[in-house]
Amino acid sequence: MSNRYKYKILPVFIPFSGCRSRCIYCDQTTITGITDTDVILSAEKQIKRWMKHSNEWNEVAFYGGSFTRLPSGIRRKLYDLAHPHNIRLSTCPDSIDAYFETELKEYPIKTVELGIQSLSENVLRLNGRNYCISDIKEVFKKLTPLVDISAQFMVCMYGESRGDLLFTASLVHELNAKYARIYPTVVFAGTKLHTITEDGGYIPSCAAESLMRSAWLYISLEAAFCRVIRIGLPPEVKDKITGGIWHESYGEFVKTLVVASFTEQFGITPDMPDFYGYKGLLKDNFSLPRAHGVDTMCKVSQRLKGQFNEGDKWFAEKQNFDFASRICHKANLG
Ligand code: SF4
Repeated sequence: MSNRYKYKILPVFIPFSGCRSRCIYCDQTTITGITDTDVILSAEKQIKRWMKHSNEWNEVAFYGGSFTRLPSGIRRKLYDLAHPHNIRLSTCPDSIDAYFETELKEYPIKTVELGIQSLSENVLRLNGRNYCISDIKEVFKKLTPLVDISAQFMVCMYGESRGDLLFTASLVHELNAKYARIYPTVVFAGTKLHTITEDGGYIPSCAAESLMRSAWLYISLEAAFCRVIRIGLPPEVKDKITGGIWHESYGEFVKTLVVASFTEQFGITPDMPDFYGYKGLLKDNFSLPRAHGVDTMCKVSQRLKGQFNEGDKWFAEKQNFDFASRICHKANLG
């Protein structure tokens, strides 16, 4: 019997709760399927439902809104509902006040997921995100000593050029986030982005470009000792997407591209027709153990970061695009 420990997070969705406006790509109601308007009752219902399956959870997580913008009375009721578990919550970088810093001392809040998305102020503004880089840096400065921070980033956002992505990647080491997630932008019906796309104002990036941008961001984060815990969107959104890239193995493809590039730069050209995933590539070409993938990917990323400097060389290297295109072709990614 496997004795691998599985950290279990009970997810509670609070769609748009606390959000002061709608980001142009976001439709939490469609993604989560939750339409309840009473956030407390809805959270209570969700927790009860999960507890019927199991009462062994490490953490209760509040996702899908700007938690710290909720009135303090509601926040406290939600913390009480999570009792006795540790708490994880997602919020916006411009939504942390002194009152929340007090709550961090009173409740077992272990992780704050901050929706950063981009460090290009132009991209943030175009996508309806109302904060700037100094807000982001300030919130990291405040929260880093108090709690683990997981930073969420997006690639191929509306208005994002390669230069914007390179700029974002060049600054991530300054944030010192402990964890990160990377999501490729997709279009949901009913969002402003959907309308812009229908009007021809947004053309989702091709799959190879999306992989290249995700991979460079991944390399930059891992090289800065920020562990990337997720790349790509969950299966629940698959049938709700009207544009953009979704694949259940998107994250594996990104890591495979990273390792294929590493192998080509520092080893031998990988045997792509018999392509079998990044762990296999590492093991067979460098005798690196599969079991220690986390440390290995950090080292791989540091070497690549050194090789491609600020990233423009990453995109200029024809072989990298060739690997990305072949991965997409093999996976049938449009
Ligand atoms: S702040 Fe987050 S949850 Fe709220 S609209 Fe923007 S992306 Fe969606």
